[in-house]
Amino acid sequence: MKIAPPTVRPPALCMKRRWASLTLTAWGVCSLHIVRGPRASAKGCDLASFELLEPRSLGEAFALLDSDDPAVRPFGGGTALMLMMKAQIFKPVRLVSLRLLGGPLHGIELAADKSAFRIGAMTTFAELEHSPDIRAHLPVVTQTMLTLANVRVRNVATIGGNLAHGDPHLDLPPVWTALDAKVRIASKAGERTIPVQELFAGYYETTLKHGEIITGIDVPVRPKWTSHYAKVTTRAQHDWPALGLAVSAQFDGKRINDIRVVLSAAVDRPSRMKGAEAVLRGAEIDDAVLSRAADAALGEVHIESDLRGSADYKQHLLRVHLGRAVKALSPRGDQATIQRA
Ligand SMILES: Cc1cc2nc3c(=O)[nH]c(=O)nc-3n(C[C@H](O)[C@H](O)[C@H](O)COP(=O)(O)OP(=O)(O)OC[C@H]3O[C@@H](n4cnc5c(N)ncnc54)[C@H](O)[C@@H]3O)c2cc1C
Repeated sequence: MKIAPPTVRPPALCMKRRWASLTLTAWGVCSLHIVRGPRASAKGCDLASFELLEPRSLGEAFALLDSDDPAVRPFGGGTALMLMMKAQIFKPVRLVSLRLLGGPLHGIELAADKSAFRIGAMTTFAELEHSPDIRAHLPVVTQTMLTLANVRVRNVATIGGNLAHGDPHLDLPPVWTALDAKVRIASKAGERTIPVQELFAGYYETTLKHGEIITGIDVPVRPKWTSHYAKVTTRAQHDWPALGLAVSAQFDGKRINDIRVVLSAAVDRPSRMKGAEAVLRGAEIDDAVLSRAADAALGEVHIESDLRGSADYKQHLLRVHLGRAVKALSPRGDQATIQRA
């Protein structure tokens, strides 16, 4: 493990320029790169010094993350971390970039029998969006990408960072949950795999332990299932959703054999609505069934008021959009849509 000499940046750099220099420096050839700098103090962008390290193996990464300090964190695409640093919500002392870790953290792999995908945590949204295999076997994921952020963010943000961030407004976690995906997590103590829904513990809170790294996600391919993701925005189309609804079902003729319904954004974490699922399972879709399913859904989740709508309003949105999402299933195949409330 080779450590480069510290690079001292002049103070009074604005956050944007300073970050650009950090990124450039990090493209160096060292197996482990340290960047330090004094506090930059230009107006509105006060950034304390921190280390940016680029290990080349998981073992090195675990060693660098081995600290009780919550300001020591893994670094995926940096899109969420950067916003938090800019807002001074998060002041890192050490960021451990996962960019140079090869092997299982990168790539989209379809099993030879086409029964499942193994997707590395450092896979970017753009790689997902443009993967022909994902388009062919998990079209709802491809379509969800088109509702999400912008090209610049999609080129950088990673699957692992998106999961670990724990923000209930994010679009992929409810979709992964509806698809019955599992997260692979590694630490120096070993590996564990959990269903995606078990990763989330509350608002911006996950069940990840300190020093753990998400290495990837396993997603089953279920040819007989069809899925839909509805991102319901109440202000501008590109705003965070007031409600996210991911629905995945298997039909027997017109009857729903099995179904998973997942609500996000209006709740503190992506949540399966098992009461609604129980009403829909075994039923043929009609307005009476959808109304009973909405009653069940409203009875089992606690909906939060926020800038995107009051709890009452979002309850109304849930009733309307649950019906639409279930009706949009089956005949037309997978879909993801942005719907203005
Ligand atoms: C302008 C903008 C608009 C956006 N719009 C949307 C949107 O509409 N929908 C949407 O879903 N997302 C959207 N995003 C992306 C989303 O907000 C997050 O920024 C992104 O998913 C985080 O991915 P990242 O790789 O950049 O994570 P990072 O910023 O690198 O990390 C985020 C968190 O995860 C941790 N972490 C990172 N990787 C790992 C790992 N492998 N294991 C363990 N912990 C890890 C970090 O320590 C940090 O706590 C948007 C982002 C921006 C900047």
